[in-house]
Amino acid sequence: MEQKALECPVCKSNKAEIAGDNVKLSGRFEDKEFLTTDLTVLRCVQCGFYMFFDKNASSFTTKEES
Ligand SMILES: [Zn+2]
Repeated sequence: MEQKALECPVCKSNKAEIAGDNVKLSGRFEDKEFLTTDLTVLRCVQCGFYMFFDKNASSFTTKEES
């Protein structure tokens, strides 16, 4: 499996497991609904923080769990 360089923004751990692949998130902003592109969801093994990897943008984005 391909290794990706990443760092958890919470605990700075670089260990994460894949929680989901080709995941699309839907949401609503004002009166518009949107759907994200395919994301890979990584979960930090240390603190459980979820990180969303956008394949197209080749960058990691994060989202707080509420
Ligand atoms: Zn972490």
